[in-house]
Amino acid sequence: MKQLQIFEQVIDRPSEYCWLLKTQTHRKIIGYLCSYTPEEIIHASGALPFRIFGHADSTIRADAHLQAYCCSLARMALEQVLSRGLDFLDGTVFSHTCDTMQRLSDIWRLNSGLALHFDVVLPSKLNSESAFRYLVDVCYQFKKDLEAAFRLKITDEQLSESIHLYNLIRQGLQELYHVRSQHPGAISGKEMDLIMRAAMRMDREEFYQRIMDVMDHLKREASMKCAQNFKRLILVGGVCDQPNLYGAVEQAGAAVVWDDLCVGSRYFQGLIDENADPIEAIAKRYFERVICPAKYRDPNFRGEYLARIAREKNIHGAIFVMLKFCDPHAFDYPFLKDHLDQVGIPSLRLEIEDPQLAIGQLQTRIEAFVEML
Ligand code: SF4
Repeated sequence: MKQLQIFEQVIDRPSEYCWLLKTQTHRKIIGYLCSYTPEEIIHASGALPFRIFGHADSTIRADAHLQAYCCSLARMALEQVLSRGLDFLDGTVFSHTCDTMQRLSDIWRLNSGLALHFDVVLPSKLNSESAFRYLVDVCYQFKKDLEAAFRLKITDEQLSESIHLYNLIRQGLQELYHVRSQHPGAISGKEMDLIMRAAMRMDREEFYQRIMDVMDHLKREASMKCAQNFKRLILVGGVCDQPNLYGAVEQAGAAVVWDDLCVGSRYFQGLIDENADPIEAIAKRYFERVICPAKYRDPNFRGEYLARIAREKNIHGAIFVMLKFCDPHAFDYPFLKDHLDQVGIPSLRLEIEDPQLAIGQLQTRIEAFVEML
């Protein structure tokens, strides 16, 4: 699809895109690693929030700082900054999620060479009024930290404008997901993955215009390209830095029609109330959004959510995409699998350490799984 070319540039050649943006607009660029980063506040400050993914050819430099049993996302992100691949960043923000990310924050602060460093220490339990008040305070503090770092004031008007734009983007992404769910084949899994990643990196105003073009194109083409006789799958996990996985699924006669990933649906779920106090409203979205396993709401919350989504989307099977050494997702897996078993949805667990892994090794397992659905 030719509308996707600009997204390819942002994902395949991020340095080129970001340096050009900086030269033309003099904007600051702030890196982040987690979908719990309140990026609307970064955007309101005038800076571009830029999500760092786990892509690197090796982890030679990172291995001097991190144990081999850290997840590849942490090791590869660190490798990128140590090898000067993220020099266009003015700073980075770390949200409190798992132990690996907390420790990576300290190592990053000391070794990245970037001028700015922020920690957003969100509560781990998102199930009480006091946790919500704490989260609101954390968001206010983050706003103050950005104001001090950039020597400016972030006004309520700027926050409201950013909130409005993010709501439009999230609605657009939701709509795209619904088109994909209703017309699998209209857009491939790899293309959808590309759009989601670009959503977390690209100038957000430009991104919004571009996905509207994609949407117009899809609405014209969707019913014609609707694939038939395939198995409907959901991907479950944190990040999925293996875009070739989608091709393997499609080759096996299935299609990913939904996901529960932090680089997927968790990124766009929940809109922000545009009529409330902006910071409280931002905090409320992160408080109420579907949680990831690094957060806690209720022991059954994630399992019940996954089973419900699987039923709603007429899912035939689930693929768990787990990064090796990712404890939060590994601990979550047995409970989620039980919930899916109870509603009769078979699942396959793929553990991936190296995102550059030859997909052939996974292809056979995916084919066998799809065949038995
Ligand atoms: S949640 Fe898992 S994948 Fe994400 S940073 Fe932590 S250990 Fe790595």
